[in-house]
Amino acid sequence: MSTNQLYAGYKSELADFRLAFSRGGAYTAIVLVLLGVGLDYGQYPQQQLAFAVARVVVSLLIAGVVVVLYSAIGRRFAPWLTLTWLLPQIMIAWMISQTEGVQSPYYVGLNLAIFASGIALPFGLWQNLVFGLLSYLLYVLACLFHAGGIEPMGTFIVNSLFLLFAAAASGVYTFFNERARFILFRLKAEVAEKNAELEVINRKLVDIKGQMLQQEKMAAIGTLAAGLLHEVNNPVNFCLMAIEVAMEEPQAKESESLTECLVDAKQGMQRIQHIVSDLKTFAYRKPGAEVEGTPFLFEKALDSSIRLTAHELRGVKMTRELPDDTLVLGDEAAVIGVLINLFSNAALAMRKAGTAAPAIHTTVRWADSRLHVTVRDNGPGIAAENLARVFEPFFTTRDVGQGLGLGLSISYAVIERHGGQLFAESELGQWAAFSFDLPRAE
Ligand code: ADP
Repeated sequence: MSTNQLYAGYKSELADFRLAFSRGGAYTAIVLVLLGVGLDYGQYPQQQLAFAVARVVVSLLIAGVVVVLYSAIGRRFAPWLTLTWLLPQIMIAWMISQTEGVQSPYYVGLNLAIFASGIALPFGLWQNLVFGLLSYLLYVLACLFHAGGIEPMGTFIVNSLFLLFAAAASGVYTFFNERARFILFRLKAEVAEKNAELEVINRKLVDIKGQMLQQEKMAAIGTLAAGLLHEVNNPVNFCLMAIEVAMEEPQAKESESLTECLVDAKQGMQRIQHIVSDLKTFAYRKPGAEVEGTPFLFEKALDSSIRLTAHELRGVKMTRELPDDTLVLGDEAAVIGVLINLFSNAALAMRKAGTAAPAIHTTVRWADSRLHVTVRDNGPGIAAENLARVFEPFFTTRDVGQGLGLGLSISYAVIERHGGQLFAESELGQWAAFSFDLPRAE
């Protein structure tokens, strides 16, 4: 943060602070001015009534200023309205001129106000000096206008010096007060800045933790799949062979129900074979290893995947936004697999939700030597609690037997092998979007 910015922030904070203190100061002034009737009673009982009226008038004027302080204009001029404290000074000066002039002990009241302005009021240095000097000027005028003039001169000099000392002391006090406030404010701004930095680091850490968790899960599935593949592939293969042989048997050809059973058994075995081959993606994954691909045009992969999902995409409006050149490096077949998965997931979700005008928009753009692809549908979206889980192997919201929940986790692994990241965003009931990135072919 620059010093100027800091100073601007300080000024606005100071304005609020001053406003609150100005009100407090005004209330204190009203109370002290009114309580002064006690002084009049002790020192000038003959003027008791006239002075009491003056005190009430001054108090009312100060109260008027308090009302103004609550308005927008009051806010703007708060520092100068604080000079309302001059009203009691004028009153005291008038009382001095009306009574004993230089000899009046009321000059102590002027001194008190000068001190209070430095200690209790949020005056700036200049305001404070102006206030002190004006107070002294009022004192000089009061003595001049007194019937007996400036007499005795010695007392006038002593009182003058005391008033000027008070003004100087109050000025020094104000100067250090203001510096302390500035340092405090700067510390506050620095703490806020550091807190904001910490927040960013925290968010990054949460992100990294999420990614590491995902990678760990994938690696665990990979190890499990490697073992399973070995154990499952052989028996599945000889079961399939046995079924084929059984289907050729005359008894099987004669019995319709037997043929049906064998066809079912064969389909079941084929499904197991597909699952096993899907799991291969995890089994042969080397963490961190990037794909050794060949250059291909992403646009062509997009066309192929749309052709291959044509059946599922019936009735879905397909739109796209592509740059001229989409040459990327990677495993074209695997990327087509990812797109097929994203398109069929979107189409299925929209069909299931009965989306009125189903549409899928694919946006493709280059950024930092990588091609960024977003596939967005206007379907039912994904609930926040499921958004991170959709990439988990075997996570599915489909009915039993309809989906394995492997599609997105395999796609995630494919994109990861390309040094990219697949992630989902969604607004429930509005849309879902899946984004990934691929390296540019040099
Ligand atoms: P499967 O399709 O077998 O369920 P996937 O891993 O491909 O497995 O998807 C996991 C889950 O993610 C789906 O069951 C579905 O709940 C959710 N999903 C994926 N794509 C979308 C989408 N476009 N809109 C809504 N939900 C989706």
